[in-house]
Amino acid sequence: MSGFLFDDIVFGPVKSRRFGVSLGINLLPETMKYCSFNCIYCECGLTAPDQEQHARLYSTEQVTSALHERFKVLKTQGLEPDNITFAGNGEPTLHPGFNIIIDNTIELREKYFPKAKITVLSNATRLHVPSVKEALLKIDNNVLKLDAGSEEMFRRINRPASPVKLSTIIDNLASFQGKLIIQTLFLRGIINNQVVDNTAEKELTLWLEHLERIKPALVMLYSVSRETPEQNIEKVSKDEMLLIAGKLDSMQIPCEVFE
Ligand code: SF4
Repeated sequence: MSGFLFDDIVFGPVKSRRFGVSLGINLLPETMKYCSFNCIYCECGLTAPDQEQHARLYSTEQVTSALHERFKVLKTQGLEPDNITFAGNGEPTLHPGFNIIIDNTIELREKYFPKAKITVLSNATRLHVPSVKEALLKIDNNVLKLDAGSEEMFRRINRPASPVKLSTIIDNLASFQGKLIIQTLFLRGIINNQVVDNTAEKELTLWLEHLERIKPALVMLYSVSRETPEQNIEKVSKDEMLLIAGKLDSMQIPCEVFE
């Protein structure tokens, strides 16, 4: 399957299971996914091996102008989003103007919707870039992905395009000193004849050790909810995730489970 792609820079507002009434911002191309991961469960489909050759990004000015226009229209209609959420067709921090776009969004938010939160959903592969980290520290909800405990499971689930290591990502997540939200998608399956299961005891133990070190303000647990590009992926039940949440509770790490 090709996956679901957003066909505009600004989309919604839509009702989100995690972020209420959410106005989405897509900094990636409209016609293809552009990401530093190739997650087995990605709703946008698989990452093309030659994506670098084809990815055409909107300029920082075009993104800011699209956002400004939509804010003006929503204000006129009396529609106020709870969240302005950077997600879309891939990894938002890959946009070279990401930090400037965040600054511009904060300015527009103050002017039009001062109560709205700014949220970024990122896969945490660009935290080593100082301007990206700086921008993420300015927003309300800095939501960063951590799906695995071991390097092996990380490579099986997230399938990074570059040789990035999970241990490096953990170091970078810990450097936020708790000013972050972790999101983890739980699943099981057999992909390319390999077992994928981030709920296995060994995986969970390592994942909890990482979280103990990272000390996130919140952990969001969820499972697959739409069609996935790889087949044979099993959704993890809410009850099972509540058991995992109980382990976080006993470590005094706040968490929320989403169906
Ligand atoms: S990080 Fe997000 S956009 Fe990238 S492959 Fe994974 S799920 Fe898809």
